Amino acid sequence: MIDGHSGGWQALDEELARWADLGRRCPVWLRDDDAVADTPALRRLLRLCGDAGIPLGLAVIAAAAEPSLIDPLAEPAGGRPEVALLVHGWAHANHAAAGEKKCEFGPGRPAGARRADAVAALDRLRGLYGERLLPLFVPPWNRMAPDMPDLLAGAGFRAVSAFGDRIAAERPAGLRWLNTHLDLIDWHGGRSAVAPEPLLDALRRHLADRREGRRDPEEPIGLLTHHLVHDAAIWGLLEALLDRLAGHPALRWPTVPEMMGPEMMGA
Ligand SMILES: [Zn+2]
Repeated sequence: MIDGHSGGWQALDEELARWADLGRRCPVWLRDDDAVADTPALRRLLRLCGDAGIPLGLAVIAAAAEPSLIDPLAEPAGGRPEVALLVHGWAHANHAAAGEKKCEFGPGRPAGARRADAVAALDRLRGLYGERLLPLFVPPWNRMAPDMPDLLAGAGFRAVSAFGDRIAAERPAGLRWLNTHLDLIDWHGGRSAVAPEPLLDALRRHLADRREGRRDPEEPIGLLTHHLVHDAAIWGLLEALLDRLAGHPALRWPTVPEMMGPEMMGA
């Protein structure tokens, strides 16, 4: 259970208290993937973020995107979150060979085809959503060929977001690298919520590694969700996390443009 007295919360609270004692605030952000249209699940996610007072990075599948996606963002509802739309590949289509991990922008495809898809994705989503769309590429399945940063930079992208450790330098090809690190969904064990204790422990370790200098302390910790497949347990886990973390004095929740920095304006 994700109640407030579990060992996972206690150890996390102690780590957060260390940050607060130092007068430091660790950056945290939420990325949600596979958005295509205005749906009840999207509205629920937006309400949750709005109530928690945190911004959202929403990764949109370019070929499937519908104009309605931004309808709920335009409504003058109180507590509406600040939402940045991100480019989640072209069609979320798997081009990997049989038996390999799913990938749309993997090394098995010619670089020219991958670059063309990335350009088409940015063009189509910019056309649909204008300035809400940021030149930040989220590769489907969080993986892509090693030459993609160069291709993406040449195609007008200014940042990349995948999962886990950043590859090589923080700014390959000049791109800002804004990964996620904590997936709320147990994809290989029933596709419901991950167990809270290991998730809270991973968050605690990310904080401790940044505080003690084993990781870049300015690297935001990214939470990852997929609103279209959330069951009650996943919604419950996200709500519990935001309840405890959204207003915490040891954390801050930068917007995606803030994390990308001034170079995002150079597109
Ligand atoms: Zn996806």
